Amino acid sequence: MSGKILVVDDVATNRIVMKVKLATACYDVIQADSGRAALDMARAETPDLILLDVLMPDLDGFTVCERLKADPRTADIPIIMITSLDDTEARLRGLSCGADEFLSKPVTELTLLARVRSLLRANSRNAELRMPMQSQAAAGFADAPMPFKQAQTECVGLLMAQDGVGHRWAHGLADRIREDVKFFTRAQALEASKDQAAVFVIEADAHRPEAALEILTDLRSRPATRHAQQIFMLQQSHPELAARALDLGADDVVIAPISVQEMALRLRAQLQHKRTSDRRRNEVTDRLRQAVIDPLTGLYNRRFALGQLATIAREAEGSTRSFAVLLLDFDHFKQINDKFGHAAGDKVLTDTAKLLQARLRSLDVIARIGGEEFLMVLPDTDLDEAQRVAERLRAGIDQAEITLPDGVTRVPVTISIGLAIGGHRTPDASVSDLLETADRALYAAKSDGRNQVSVGTISSAA
Ligand code: GH3
Ligand code: MG
Ligand code: MG
Repeated sequence: MSGKILVVDDVATNRIVMKVKLATACYDVIQADSGRAALDMARAETPDLILLDVLMPDLDGFTVCERLKADPRTADIPIIMITSLDDTEARLRGLSCGADEFLSKPVTELTLLARVRSLLRANSRNAELRMPMQSQAAAGFADAPMPFKQAQTECVGLLMAQDGVGHRWAHGLADRIREDVKFFTRAQALEASKDQAAVFVIEADAHRPEAALEILTDLRSRPATRHAQQIFMLQQSHPELAARALDLGADDVVIAPISVQEMALRLRAQLQHKRTSDRRRNEVTDRLRQAVIDPLTGLYNRRFALGQLATIAREAEGSTRSFAVLLLDFDHFKQINDKFGHAAGDKVLTDTAKLLQARLRSLDVIARIGGEEFLMVLPDTDLDEAQRVAERLRAGIDQAEITLPDGVTRVPVTISIGLAIGGHRTPDASVSDLLETADRALYAAKSDGRNQVSVGTISSAA
């Protein structure tokens, strides 16, 4: 994975040492020799990651870190603070300024590069989630995404190798973070339950660390836990194991003993990452939904349904199967609007959509393709079956009276349906031939008195 990394240090030799390490691993390195230069360069170049020295003559690393995190242009760039200070105070301060990790000099290459890979991977995942937003905005999807719904209570899940430390924390953490802290066994963590963990802390047993790495990959591979953040905890320093955990997908690695303050800071950072990526994922899903769904009825929209029709037609090609195309139009819909108002008309459309959908199979496609016109495509359906289905739909609507938004008034509604059959009996008919045929049949149903189904015969294929 390539990436652009900004190295910030006031001492030239430090920058050069770092540059050599990173360049060997094929990263592009840019450099800044002061805090101010770092801020300018981060804004101008938007690097994928920043390695930030703490002690610098102008602005120190803490201040630089805070300013980068406060600026929306640079807030998402992961930061590793690097320093010769090895006191807990500085470490906690770095983490609370928003740094993702705090490494003490001399930094071993293994540890550094594993951190770099892990943070770059997380960052590029987020960038992928951001990208569709930008291209959609460019394509004219200007409306705001639906409001993000926070998942119901998420907790912090502790998977401890030994009894002691977790219990001590659980109390201290309860005062410092809002989320509940719960203990999980491996089996409980893996089974999707109502106790969803936003972050797992996975402690490796010093004698059997492999087991903890397995849990980590297991959690990553299951749909229910795939998006949870993971903090891997080692009972003693073990750079190889730490690097492996990061490469397997851990978001953070901590080494015991670790204070409850530091753990709370790290958990808060991971909870924040989780919220951001959940929100972005939801925005993407909403946009995708908006691209295929008709907002009034919740049915598919025209564009998506035509794509589905083309797919179903292609799948039937060369087989002995048929499929049905049904065009449905409400009878005298204008009168409903005129008499009861537009909102009443909308209610008729949404309620009817539900009634129709409930009478179709899940593999059938139903879409609202115009104001009061619906299209249905029924795969693997011959003429007899299609007529039965269409008749059942017509009769179902005829018999149902729709209740208007006032909750009292009930209006009778009828529909007309035009039907065409594609597939092995009409192999030359294109999708547009079928739509035209169904449309002509619909017109015939209307002229014959409405509230009926009419079957079209393909003329252009002849
Ligand atoms: P016909 O039986 O010949 O189909 O008569 P009709 O009145 O249903 O057909 P016409 O095409 O004359 O009118 C359709 C009406 O549907 C006109 C339009 O205002 C209304 N309409 C279209 N889209 C919507 C919508 O989203 N909501 C509401 N309430 N009305 C809509
Ligand atoms: Mg109509
Ligand atoms: Mg119409």
